[in-house]
Amino acid sequence: MALNRFSLESLSLKRGKSYPFRGPFPAVWNPIAYLDHNNLWRTMDEMGDEIPSDAPWKAPLAEEWDYMSMKELLDKICWTKSAKQLATLFVNLCVTAETHEVSALWFLWYVKQCGGTTRIISTTNGGQERKFVGGSGQVSERIMELLGDRVKLERPVVHIDQNGENVVVETLNHEIYEAKYVISAIPPILGMKIHYSPPLPMLRNQLITRVPLGSVIKCIVYYKEPFWRKRDFCGTMVIEGEEAPIAYTLDDTKPDGSYAAIIGFILAHKARKLTRLTKEER
Ligand SMILES: Cc1cc2nc3c(=O)[nH]c(=O)nc-3n(C[C@H](O)[C@H](O)[C@H](O)COP(=O)(O)OP(=O)(O)OC[C@H]3O[C@@H](n4cnc5c(N)ncnc54)[C@H](O)[C@@H]3O)c2cc1C
Repeated sequence: MALNRFSLESLSLKRGKSYPFRGPFPAVWNPIAYLDHNNLWRTMDEMGDEIPSDAPWKAPLAEEWDYMSMKELLDKICWTKSAKQLATLFVNLCVTAETHEVSALWFLWYVKQCGGTTRIISTTNGGQERKFVGGSGQVSERIMELLGDRVKLERPVVHIDQNGENVVVETLNHEIYEAKYVISAIPPILGMKIHYSPPLPMLRNQLITRVPLGSVIKCIVYYKEPFWRKRDFCGTMVIEGEEAPIAYTLDDTKPDGSYAAIIGFILAHKARKLTRLTKEER
């Protein structure tokens, strides 16, 4: 499903005021800030150009950039508060993490892989353009239909033994499976809950413990109709400021126009803060 949002307006909310804008990024009127914003996106894309897709560690300044967090990089590039604030929101949104939590090399590589700063955030011809009609969970559901009862649910793997000719896999409820190969497609950090025999290399384990998971809460508000469309708005809002839990929204109405909805993203430290509240408080 392609959502045609490019000709519609988005809203930027800052210090309690809202400003409509077109295109991927909120408008900037102050000429100094405008130059700073322009320089920010251009510099990030130029740095991305220096990073080989298949071997980011081979970038000429790989080590220097990997030693630096995105916070440090933004402190260096941005001169204005406005550019730094938007860039921080951009990092929070793309990887659901704080700027101090991620390596500059890794983040710049990630953005480069998604076609650069404009394309990763854009709805038209960009990372935010398409959704699966009916939801992406259908991919696994359809594969499951083909595989039938060979798919075992609710049996987390707790042990993988590779000492013999076959790999022996044990689940939490003590079922044993044997196979020639095992393909693990779980988030690397969850792999730490599995006991491997022989153990995985120590350096690999160290690496995984240094790769943080992001934090994000999605919240969807349903309306009787997508009233914003009538006013030529696309439903995207960029909301800056510590007091706003939601930083970014998108139109989440179904392709046939039913279930008019706006989806909001609560990102990184704001998501962690909200998880401590009760459901009612949230
Ligand atoms: C709140 C939220 C919103 C998101 N929104 C979007 C979005 O709008 N668009 C988008 O493109 N992406 C989105 N993502 C990202 C997307 O969900 C992930 O990139 C994608 O699900 C990763 O797929 P995966 O198969 O690699 O891992 P997962 O989907 O994490 O699948 C791993 C599976 O392994 C299972 N597992 C874990 N441990 C074990 C074990 N020991 N034994 C057996 N099984 C195990 C888990 O139960 C899980 O089913 C979102 C993520 C989150 C958390």
